[in-house]
Amino acid sequence: MNIVKPYRFFLLLLLFACSKGKEVSNTINNPIVPVVVAPKITLPTVAIADTPTSLSSTSIVYNAKILDNGGEGVTNYGICWSKNSTPTLNDFKYNYTGKLIGNFETNVQGLKGGTVYNFASYATNSAGTNYSTIKTVKTPDPINVVNCQLPEMMTRGDVGIGFPRIANRMKSVGTLTINVIFVDFSDAASTKTPQEVYSILTPTAETYFNTVSYGKLNIQFKPNLKWYRMGKPSSDYGWDNLTFNLHKQYIQEAINIADADIDFSGSDAFVIIANPDATKIKNGPAFTASKGAGIKVDGKEFLSSATSGNDLKVWGGLWFNHEFGHDMSLVDLYAYQGSAHRFVGEYSIMGLISGAGQDLFGWEKWILGWLSDDQVVCVNSGVNSALLTPIETAGGTKLFTIPISKTAAIVVESRRAIGYDKNLPKTGPLVYIVDTNIPSGTGTIKVLPIDETDIKKLQSPMVVGQVMNYLNYSIKFVSTDLNGDVVEIKKN
Ligand SMILES: [Zn+2]
Repeated sequence: MNIVKPYRFFLLLLLFACSKGKEVSNTINNPIVPVVVAPKITLPTVAIADTPTSLSSTSIVYNAKILDNGGEGVTNYGICWSKNSTPTLNDFKYNYTGKLIGNFETNVQGLKGGTVYNFASYATNSAGTNYSTIKTVKTPDPINVVNCQLPEMMTRGDVGIGFPRIANRMKSVGTLTINVIFVDFSDAASTKTPQEVYSILTPTAETYFNTVSYGKLNIQFKPNLKWYRMGKPSSDYGWDNLTFNLHKQYIQEAINIADADIDFSGSDAFVIIANPDATKIKNGPAFTASKGAGIKVDGKEFLSSATSGNDLKVWGGLWFNHEFGHDMSLVDLYAYQGSAHRFVGEYSIMGLISGAGQDLFGWEKWILGWLSDDQVVCVNSGVNSALLTPIETAGGTKLFTIPISKTAAIVVESRRAIGYDKNLPKTGPLVYIVDTNIPSGTGTIKVLPIDETDIKKLQSPMVVGQVMNYLNYSIKFVSTDLNGDVVEIKKN
């Protein structure tokens, strides 16, 4: 579609109006038969400001104006943009519907930094669509996202959510083959079939990772559906004061027994499922070893594993996803001491397996490689705004990150009541602090506002128009629609 120069239509409009005037004067002496002539509808004319009201590497706000509605109200108006020289309605557009004459504002999100775009405002009535002159703008270069990748401080050594992800942990992208081994005990012989117990795990665990990773992590269990009897009663494995070495001995024993039937050389990992009725094996921790301290079998060393316990009956199959989260380096987001959920409430399966917000934080997904760097907007000055698409769906910009110290950042993401977050009672932008200098179980992530008496945090998502202040930054929830939440960040 071509851009029509508005002045040509203005001239046509004037000529037309003059000739009509003459016709009326020639009928003065004739008998009057009143004829109502419908006003001729012409294309509307529209203008765009010379410079944008605000500009960031991902967004632009332009004022525009409908100068003439062409004889009737316009039905659609807005701004369209393209990397090509002539933007039209077939390109990206920010559209309003309804009748208007006068000024309007357009807030364009989701642009790429360091990119040249052409913008034109437009207006449509029954005669067609007309465009303004074209404005060419180059968005500022984005701040390199590396500036927001907080360093891994190795405060604990086996798990952490800093960059780069801890090398000893499991790969988090691709297909993983995981052996599933079932064990019981002389004092806790299983009364269920291995298949019955396995059905707690599958397909719940595989489906969870496939969904929350946007299809990037594919778990393939290889169950060995028989009970292997352990050498000691369940009460003799030291679960009340389980240490790394006791846990390792338990796993090594189970693997040695099962090794007669299983070739582990092609496996990525294994899990040991204890008879869930064995109350002495009360819980199911992850095993996260460093090189040389792992489980050795079939010529391989396995550094990451998990063993289930009696609480498998409480958590169900998502127990695996929490523990395997550790195997991939994620930290515990609940508190080891004091009120357990005061840091992140019911968000993230690493905070509470059975919470209302079972999806992971966007930061966790970024660490695991499920979000790419270009889905993260790194901010450190000026005004920045972005359309954040919900963390539960694939694609789009997912995170705003603002470094506030060498190890900490403010992070903003959009949460919706869909998928594993379907039980969230309130949705919108969720703001939290990540500090890689704070170890697992002591507040590595804290949801804002920090209120340690609000143990569920389910009222934390912002409402439209709300401004949240933290240190020198103000975070504003500008608007929302089906695509996501527009958030603006300003350094005061
Ligand atoms: Zn844990």
